[in-house]
Amino acid sequence: MHMIAKVIVDVSNSEVDKVFDYLIPDDSNITVGARVLLPFGARTIEGYVIEIADSSTMPNAKLKPIIKKLDETNVIKPELLSLSLVLKEKYHLRLIDCLRLIVPSQIRSNKVKAKIEKKVFINVEKANEYLPAVRSNAKNIIGAITYMREVGSANYSALASKFSNASINKLIDDGVFGVVKNKVNRFDASKLNRSAQKVKLTETQNNAVNQIISSPKVHLLHGVTGSGKTEVYLEAIENVLKAGKTAIMLVPEISLTPQMIGIFTARFGSIVAVLHSGLSDGERYDEWFRLHSGEAKIAIGARSAIFAPLENVGIIIIDEEHDSSYIADSNPRYNTFDVALERANFNKCPLVLGSATPSIEDYYYAKTGKFNLIEMPNRVNGKPMPPIEIVDMCSEFRSGNITPFSKILVNKLSSVIADGKQAMLFINRRGFSSFLMCRDCGYVPSCTSCDISLSYHKVDNELKCHYCGKRFKVINKCPKCGSKNIKLGGVGTEQVVELLRDLYPGLKIFRMDNDTTQTKDSHFQILKAFGETKPSILVGTQMIAKGHDFPSVALVGILDSDLSLYFSDFRATEKTFQLVTQVSGRAGRANINGDVILQTYYPKHYVYKLCAAYNYVGFYDKEINLRETTNFPPFSTILRLLVTSGSDDKAKALAHNLFIKLKDLKTKYKEKFYFLEAMKSPVGKIKNKYRYQLVMRFTDADNKIINHVYNVVDSVHDKAVSTFVEINPLSLT
Ligand code: ADP
Ligand code: ZN
Ligand code: ZN
Repeated sequence: MHMIAKVIVDVSNSEVDKVFDYLIPDDSNITVGARVLLPFGARTIEGYVIEIADSSTMPNAKLKPIIKKLDETNVIKPELLSLSLVLKEKYHLRLIDCLRLIVPSQIRSNKVKAKIEKKVFINVEKANEYLPAVRSNAKNIIGAITYMREVGSANYSALASKFSNASINKLIDDGVFGVVKNKVNRFDASKLNRSAQKVKLTETQNNAVNQIISSPKVHLLHGVTGSGKTEVYLEAIENVLKAGKTAIMLVPEISLTPQMIGIFTARFGSIVAVLHSGLSDGERYDEWFRLHSGEAKIAIGARSAIFAPLENVGIIIIDEEHDSSYIADSNPRYNTFDVALERANFNKCPLVLGSATPSIEDYYYAKTGKFNLIEMPNRVNGKPMPPIEIVDMCSEFRSGNITPFSKILVNKLSSVIADGKQAMLFINRRGFSSFLMCRDCGYVPSCTSCDISLSYHKVDNELKCHYCGKRFKVINKCPKCGSKNIKLGGVGTEQVVELLRDLYPGLKIFRMDNDTTQTKDSHFQILKAFGETKPSILVGTQMIAKGHDFPSVALVGILDSDLSLYFSDFRATEKTFQLVTQVSGRAGRANINGDVILQTYYPKHYVYKLCAAYNYVGFYDKEINLRETTNFPPFSTILRLLVTSGSDDKAKALAHNLFIKLKDLKTKYKEKFYFLEAMKSPVGKIKNKYRYQLVMRFTDADNKIINHVYNVVDSVHDKAVSTFVEINPLSLT
């Protein structure tokens, strides 16, 4: 009797979402979690063993045996296998997509291999006997022996390129040289800067550490910029390591600077492994296996590092927890917090969410006792936050200034440059070109029933509300002031740089945005060059907002802070508050005083007053009231079904079917299920796939409605159409 392996096959772009049975060959050590090679139809493919059973529901005669196991160890650890099963249920994903989160692409299909380095040693005694017998014209042999006598050991390939492969191989064959094979780590941590020294924690910091390490729950660490959160993380991790456990530290991709990683490697050395997209495939492969083997005990990385193959996790930290990069917005869609909570519960360890501007939802959970709230309201160095000056761009416009720079911004820029210091100018690209705005009074059309700004849909040349589906005609005259100066979007980085070049001929101006950061490391290069050039100006998008410490930045200008307000999203003001706070934090980091100039067409908007006062709690109070009266998260769950297909008709038909069935569900759950709308997605087509969406909102503490929605999704299956589920999505494009 053969044992049966239940296998999930790794077939890309397929709808094969079921378990297949295979025979386990005799004498194989195939167990749960192994990556295996399989016959599949006429092909040979990879798969993952998720269960071992005594018997199959299929007749044994039909079963084929597994060809072989692909790695020495099992790539999927038990905790991560059960995690992927949980994610499959929670987000209605295919299991293979979950497993692909756990086994990185560098490991699948043997795309990358371990780098093995051969090290050559000399057997001195043998060499002494050998040398007299060597012919005098065998220059390479003599040279290699002479060289190796001096150095003792050397890298095989270096040695062979010096003295030829043939000579070195002969010396190895003759026993003069010995060889050992070593696995090499391609990630060279020594190139990181290691400047951090251990500080003595303040009482506030110590208190934070003690709360965290003494209680395995979710802690929200709300600390202003410069309050010393990083030191709290370091100390908490050190405690966890002392107890023999491991740690996961997540930061937004953009903040994973050499400076940031250097702080951790300086403190913990080689047990730190880094996982991020800036690494080469080989580096990523090596770092992953260092975690998998237990050699590395701290995983630092962006979102995907939550799947780090660590065991016995003692702490999980999500820094800048409000950052939108923690929500995966392409398949498989997941929220990093949910995954982290699952792992924290499994390991019975604390989960720390850190931020100067926590998400409204998380602060609410902290205020209401679901999370433990830790406040660090003061900067370690006692310095005040840089003053924020709000500039009314409407009045600039009325007085004839049609440039993107207010007069006061130009004055300050000029004096900063004259002083030999630096300035950063921030341009908000989010929501760019997606709304209409009156350039004279700042009016932006919004939905009559939702109070959310409308998105401009170029294809249909109309305005739409992403929450209720209402459509409106494009305006060409402002209903508020009568002006015909209605324009789309704002200015771009490129344009700003050109204008600055005219204003300050000869001055070094750097630009950082999606266009200038396409290649690996390019954004570190730009930041490095900026850091070394004084005076200078850095113009950039969201990318310049965080993580970088430039002591000579004396001025931060926010050119168009309103753009994120118009983002058609109930989180628009929250995002604006977070962004302004974060960008402002770039000014006056060290010993110089900094200024922040915030340009807006809405100078009286409450969000700016509260930003300027650095009053997060005041902002939270206002926002949470709004959420409660309008029934948005955390008082409800938003669920979007995104229906996509290469065929417009099929996508539309399936979306329609879903809608009909969901309407029944809505009737059934009455007041708990209070919103449902089906529409073409704001971006109606991406990569030749047509997109429709069903947006619903409900209060659903026990996931009953969600599970019913999933049943509905399963019941209207069409092979040519994919349906993706998103819970509380960050955008509805
Ligand atoms: P945050 O992450 O909250 O913005 P950091 O942890 O980066 O703050 O700390 C800000 C600065 O203060 C850093 O330069 C850090 O080295 C320093 N710092 C933090 N804690 C202490 C302390 N206890 N004593 C002295 N300096 C500290
Ligand atoms: Zn609406
Ligand atoms: Zn107007």
